[in-house]
Amino acid sequence: MSDLQPAAQPLCDATHDPALRSWVASANWPDADFPIQNLPLGRFRPVGRDPAQPEPLRVGVAIGDQVLDLKAAATMCPWADEVHPLLEPLAAGDLAAFMALGRPAWRTLRAALSAALAEGSDQGPFLESCLLPMAEAQMALPCRIGDYTDFYAGIHHARTVGALMRPDSPLLPNYAWVPIGYHGRASSVGIEGRVKRPQGQTRSKDSGEGGAPHVGPSKRLDYELELGLWIGAANALGEPVAMAQAEDRLFGVTLLNDWSARDIQAWEYQPLGPFLAKSFVTTVSPWVVSFEALAPFRRPPVRPADQPAALPYLESDFNAAHGALDITLEVWLQTAAMRTRGEPALRLSQSNALDACWTPAQLVTHHTSNGCNLQVGDLLGTGTLSGPLPEQGGSLLELSQGGRQPLTLPNGEQRSFLEDGDTVTLRAHCRAPGAVRIALGTVSGTVLAA
Ligand code: MN
Repeated sequence: MSDLQPAAQPLCDATHDPALRSWVASANWPDADFPIQNLPLGRFRPVGRDPAQPEPLRVGVAIGDQVLDLKAAATMCPWADEVHPLLEPLAAGDLAAFMALGRPAWRTLRAALSAALAEGSDQGPFLESCLLPMAEAQMALPCRIGDYTDFYAGIHHARTVGALMRPDSPLLPNYAWVPIGYHGRASSVGIEGRVKRPQGQTRSKDSGEGGAPHVGPSKRLDYELELGLWIGAANALGEPVAMAQAEDRLFGVTLLNDWSARDIQAWEYQPLGPFLAKSFVTTVSPWVVSFEALAPFRRPPVRPADQPAALPYLESDFNAAHGALDITLEVWLQTAAMRTRGEPALRLSQSNALDACWTPAQLVTHHTSNGCNLQVGDLLGTGTLSGPLPEQGGSLLELSQGGRQPLTLPNGEQRSFLEDGDTVTLRAHCRAPGAVRIALGTVSGTVLAA
């Protein structure tokens, strides 16, 4: 692990050069999600001819509308000596083992992939046969997730949801000081696109004070627009990670949908927080965009004017200058009726990760501040990333004001919460002056009946 303070290193290098083009033509298309400046890693297997004999998983790089198969590339292409040992775990489908090699290795691989995929590269002719169209890659979770923690860093989400319950004091007194989080369920995180409506215990006003709760399918199923942060370096139990080292623990970012059953949540959450209202499924996008790729999109965090400065253990010079991520986030909805009529998905909201109250590094430092050991492959959810305006809510709970103001869709359908057959798709992209646009891809899920 490098002991260098990240602030001492230049954020951008030759791999971010906006003039760089790839010999993979689709990577140069305007508004491509995966230009050569992005180079996200994901785990996949080629869709085989015989489903009974699936090919082994391996790690690939998204480039344009293609996937570069690193299992094939490790053997079919000449590489510099220092690159071979980095390709070995990736060829074996073990992204966690690659992440465990640390940031110098991540940078070496990124530079090698950038050079190999660049226009005019000597390696191009060897790598052409290692490409497969994205449609022929069956994606899997990037790695086994040891632990999953979900935070609550979106202050506009916290304020709006708090106001539904406590109009006079939406934010609890600890919000400004503590990055609030809870331990989520790692086993139910997936990339699978089907979301079975959960059953659960709920108690509505109809049950009356002291009345017995009802058991049945959730009637208030919702999504949460979040980023997933992938931990790439471990800390030992009892050894907190200071802010100066926190960036080196962060490997990359995906989209994360924290599917939520609001009626189950409302009845069960006191006094210990979310439980079965969240653990029925969480979905993530399959391509992990590295913090190196995000370098042109790092910004100073801006805390809302009415919030106090963070305590010193959550501050660093690097964080003050570059801690936040400028990522535009979107939620799209296509109902079953829209699909039947051939109507395209509708954008429900747009917001930006800059509006979070806490940065990724602050989440890592706070999580480990008691000595808790994060491990390679752990996943941190940021919390719902809503913007300051009502139409920028990152959940239906916010957009429908707790179900009191249903949304009317252009085709006349109404939504307070999700109906069976609804498909929710999260998207995210980054733009900055002097940088090529990159994107995180998508995570999509369709609600199935309970
Ligand atoms: Mn959440």
